[in-house]
Amino acid sequence: MSEATRGAATAPRRPPAVGPALHFVADAFVPAASGRTFETLDPATNEPITGVADGAAEDADRAVRAARAAFDDGPWPRWPAARRAEVLRRVADLIDARAEEIAAVECLDTGIPWDQIRHAQIPRAAENFRFFAEMALRLAGELFPTDGVFHTYTLHRPVGVAGLIVPWNTPFMLQTWKVAPCLAAGNTCVLKPAEWAPLSAGLLAEIVRDAGLPPGVFNVVHGVGERAGAAVVAHPGVQLISFTGETATGREIMRNGASGLKRFSMELGGKSPVVVFADADLDRALDAAIFGVFSLNGERCTAGSRLLVEAPVYDGLVDALLARVARIRIGAPLDPATELGPLIHPDHWHRVRGYMDVARAEGVTVAAGGDRPAGVDRGNYFAPTVLLGADARHRVFQEEIFGPVLCVTPFANEAEAVRLANAVRYGLAAYVWTSDVARAHRVAAQVEAGMVWVNSQNVRDLRIPFGGMKDSGIGREGGLYSFEFYTERQAVHVALGRHPIPRLGAG
Ligand code: NAD
Repeated sequence: MSEATRGAATAPRRPPAVGPALHFVADAFVPAASGRTFETLDPATNEPITGVADGAAEDADRAVRAARAAFDDGPWPRWPAARRAEVLRRVADLIDARAEEIAAVECLDTGIPWDQIRHAQIPRAAENFRFFAEMALRLAGELFPTDGVFHTYTLHRPVGVAGLIVPWNTPFMLQTWKVAPCLAAGNTCVLKPAEWAPLSAGLLAEIVRDAGLPPGVFNVVHGVGERAGAAVVAHPGVQLISFTGETATGREIMRNGASGLKRFSMELGGKSPVVVFADADLDRALDAAIFGVFSLNGERCTAGSRLLVEAPVYDGLVDALLARVARIRIGAPLDPATELGPLIHPDHWHRVRGYMDVARAEGVTVAAGGDRPAGVDRGNYFAPTVLLGADARHRVFQEEIFGPVLCVTPFANEAEAVRLANAVRYGLAAYVWTSDVARAHRVAAQVEAGMVWVNSQNVRDLRIPFGGMKDSGIGREGGLYSFEFYTERQAVHVALGRHPIPRLGAG
């Protein structure tokens, strides 16, 4: 069955009905203390979908107090890991059971195509809960025997209350990526969804409640980042901040949390290279390059937004790329045949469109796309775009555009490929295509990126460290690395005999 037919069998035809997005505090859905709301928009039409509780300091305080009480006095951190794991596995089962509904709400709210949400992001969200439940059961301490005098061992202990702040691209999956390890480790949390895509967080709240999570363990505060998010970061009751979003926001959050000595995990922006050598399987490299930057509407942190191509195959690859890009199916997010949907918000559309003026002013050629697709007169649709002639001097090569925009640049040799790949401030992902095994390893070891894929698209195993170098982040999450962040490693020193103790004052 083709992807399109598979989707057609299950996709809802009409947008789902959704109620207002409320905060979720101590197991209850509640409006903002101020009573204020703002609207979330359908990116395909820019019509309002529903109202969203406009959180501020008082709402954050209520949520953090609920999370604090659940941590200090509630059962969750004290339950054996196996009992917590049972609840988290039920969360996964409920995500599977409600997958169609979650996918429909997420498509409506984000504009990301149905097929990419329903068949990739939602199954991954359920998998996050199953995986981290299992990991928590397998956490083991270390033993340091010291010359028969001491045994020192380590324990993983939960830290406390975590503030989990997420962006609007693939919000449901990203929320579960943080919530699952945070809870599996025995912490409690306050989730701050992005203001442009708040709706699926409410479904997650219903699901964790129905799965039997004790009240106050999981809380949600909606609102704009500078108010609701900043209040969570500044709150003295919060010890951990896991943030995914723009680099500039990450800096601001670290400044605001510094005086409270919070522990931070920062998953930030990217401008990742796809390096294609002439000896690569060019058909597969092209498939992966196109999917890597045009899926999720180009709003993907690990997007390969700079295609670096060895000179002898540059012209042929660009021709093939342009032919394929012209046939990408642009359409309504809920249509299972759609490959590219609308950008999240009119402000973001204008930002992406603005880069086309920047490109032209700098002498870069807009070889495909660059604007609203022909014949589409509403919504935040942006045609798949190819920029030619950009190199390290140009802003469109340097800056994260976070839309369906690909820069293609030729290189002469391996040294130049590595130089171009590293000539940006980001270092999240890199993709290397070559049939020369030694070169693949050489280039991977020189590229400044937290994650390198060789002859592969972005395929992830949940055990593997996820995160970036340089301006793309601080720390790693995934597998055991998530538990490094979400637990305290406590050392317990046990004396085995009568080791010497200095006897001050004993004469
Ligand atoms: P953003 O930084 O604007 O917002 C992210 C979240 O932070 C939102 O919930 C927002 O409300 C909140 N926020 C904003 N200001 C805040 C403040 N002062 N204090 C506390 N919270 C605040 O990012 P975005 O536009 O929503 O998302 C796109 C960005 O996310 C891109 O840069 C993308 O690369 C990045 N991203 C990174 C990863 C990764 O894993 N590295 C994954 C997905 C997205």
